[in-house]
Amino acid sequence: MNQDFTKGAAWIKGKVVPIQNATIGVTDWAVTHSDVTYDVVPVRDHGFFRLNEYLDRFEASLTACHMDVGLSREEIIHALHQMVATSGLQDAYVAMVAARGVPVIPGSRDPRDCANHFYAWCVPYIHVVRPEVAEAGVHVMLSDTTHRIPADSVNPRVKNYHWGDFTQGLFEAKTAGFETVVLPDHAGNITEGPGFNVFAVKGNTIITPDAGVLHGITRRTVLELAAAQGFSVQERDLPIAEFMEADEVFLSSSGGGVIPVARVNERQFSNGAAGAVALGLRQAYWEMTQDDCYRTPVVAP
Ligand SMILES: *Cc1c(COP(=O)(O)O)cnc(C)c1O
Repeated sequence: MNQDFTKGAAWIKGKVVPIQNATIGVTDWAVTHSDVTYDVVPVRDHGFFRLNEYLDRFEASLTACHMDVGLSREEIIHALHQMVATSGLQDAYVAMVAARGVPVIPGSRDPRDCANHFYAWCVPYIHVVRPEVAEAGVHVMLSDTTHRIPADSVNPRVKNYHWGDFTQGLFEAKTAGFETVVLPDHAGNITEGPGFNVFAVKGNTIITPDAGVLHGITRRTVLELAAAQGFSVQERDLPIAEFMEADEVFLSSSGGGVIPVARVNERQFSNGAAGAVALGLRQAYWEMTQDDCYRTPVVAP
């Protein structure tokens, strides 16, 4: 059997396999309805960062989606350790997924009839923005045509695969020569982008949207680090006009930490380079991932 784990590993149906051997069925509601909730925890230097916080969010998502994957928290933790240890990866992007599955009564359209299931996969650490681009300050499009799907249609606090809005926004951004996209809501406020939260810096204040966005663990980490550095932090609506008048703008994600923004549409921030506040928080974030208080070393079971 092919046991090549260089591309990553998956935990599926109780076994760890090379990621290229992991498959799910074509009729799974995960595939036909994007009926999935998931989470992604980063591994740095063979240690999970803030593992308990990611698991808390994943469990809250399962409850919100009425899903029961039949595994305890301890069993999920065990699966993640076993998978990452087997992969041999030191720095990894670790996804845990709960899928709706297929109805146990063939043809049923009742979601309660579906047999939910869990799988996980890990690949070499992913940066949502390449590090050299992030350090120079990323160029971002703020879309004026695609809006974030409303929170009363798809709950953004439950990490999900309903990426139609983000993918459409990414096509607009890439076509216009931007690295990535930020979406507004229908009321003219900033929301978030494909896999990251958004921040504005004005004087000594750091503002990030609260409603209509995923509450990222990196977002929480940034708010803690910023408060510790003496900034005043505000989680509230961030109108587009206020955002475009900020001194600095940056993004946060488990895929790359803190990402400075040099340009939004035609507007340059921090003289078209990475801002000092964002660079300081970026450094502090990487240091925190090495802090034993927040790390869970990967152990082979
Ligand atoms: C995952 C994700 C984020 C970032 O959350 P982290 O926990 O910091 O990785 C932000 N927005 C969306 C839509 C996401 O899927």
